[in-house]
Amino acid sequence: MFKVKKIDHIAICVADIDAAAAKYKEVLGLEGREREVVASQRTEALLLPLGESSLELIAPAGNEGLTKFLEKRGPGLHHIAVEVEGIEGALAFLKGIGVPLIDETPRKGARGHKVAFVHPKATGGVLVELVEPDDSHAEHA
Ligand code: ZN
Repeated sequence: MFKVKKIDHIAICVADIDAAAAKYKEVLGLEGREREVVASQRTEALLLPLGESSLELIAPAGNEGLTKFLEKRGPGLHHIAVEVEGIEGALAFLKGIGVPLIDETPRKGARGHKVAFVHPKATGGVLVELVEPDDSHAEHA
């Protein structure tokens, strides 16, 4: 087993990050921080820090999955990200017990973190992302 530390972020897929960010500021008073185009995932992301975790607004920037998500379902909850200790070990463990994974090896996500997605078949229909923060990045933030 591996250690899950906290909810890192909850991601909400939107078509227009600026419009959504304005709404979250109006409704919940949340301020956007660390807007980023994540080239490896072809998405654009804006973090809205909230206590020990964050909401993350994500929009497609060439990402087919997110484009289809918006076409089929409209904007809404997209995935939940949990922080884990040792993402490679976590993935090996999950693979070993037969959990379907979208990513068998971590890729580089927003803020330079290592991320990997677990298939929603394994988690009650919710897309779950494992995140291991890149501490070298955090020190400079
Ligand atoms: Zn995420």
